[in-house]
Amino acid sequence: MNLILLGPPGAGKGTQAEALVKKHGLVQLSTGSMLREAVKAGTEVGRQADAVMKAGGLVSDNIVIGVIADRIAQPDCARGAIFDGFPRTLAQAAALDDLLAKRNMPLDAVVELKVDDAAMVSRISGRYSCAKCGAGYHDTNKIPKVAGVCDACGATTFSRRADDNAETVQKRLLEYYRETSPLIGYYFAKGKLKRVDGMAPINEITNAVEAALGLVERV
Ligand code: ADP
Ligand code: ZN
Repeated sequence: MNLILLGPPGAGKGTQAEALVKKHGLVQLSTGSMLREAVKAGTEVGRQADAVMKAGGLVSDNIVIGVIADRIAQPDCARGAIFDGFPRTLAQAAALDDLLAKRNMPLDAVVELKVDDAAMVSRISGRYSCAKCGAGYHDTNKIPKVAGVCDACGATTFSRRADDNAETVQKRLLEYYRETSPLIGYYFAKGKLKRVDGMAPINEITNAVEAALGLVERV
């Protein structure tokens, strides 16, 4: 099963991908996480991606397509994957078509998470996570029950993504509308697009995505 989650930064693609991984044992391929890991590890890819990501720009198609092509060839992807943050340009979408065709794999669905832009900007600008277990928090929407202590694991150190600040968020949103939003038309024309309300409660969105994939009868 291959699923693409499409939507602006902060739409909840990662959250939904994680829920589907837990419930259905699917593999999540997040180019954002993969690139952040490459930056941390100081690899050649990371070295090239670092500054672009910090500025909220898009990493070059060649790099990202290369990363995905390598990853998709791993044995754990034999049954398909959930693509989160990829493709982000028409060139990436065409490359993914080729990669899947070569492997004789179908693209089952593309789910667009529709969100309110203003809400989304505040969602991202305030988000941070537990440095130990990764649990997500927000400055105003979701603060830990005890200030400074992670609800999930009790750790007291938190981290914020370098690109989660108001200025960079605006640049990322611009890139989304310029480069990524044309993919909505691309997949609609291919008969793959399903639209889901990304402002609904997390579990309702998961149900809607499952319905789009035929994993449940209906919502
Ligand atoms: P978000 O969806 O919240 O913007 P991601 O973790 O998906 O966050 O991506 C973070 C950054 O990583 C992007 O702003 C971009 O610089 C880079 N990136 C991730 N995926 C891609 C991609 N498919 N093509 C180009 N750049 C990407
Ligand atoms: Zn924690």
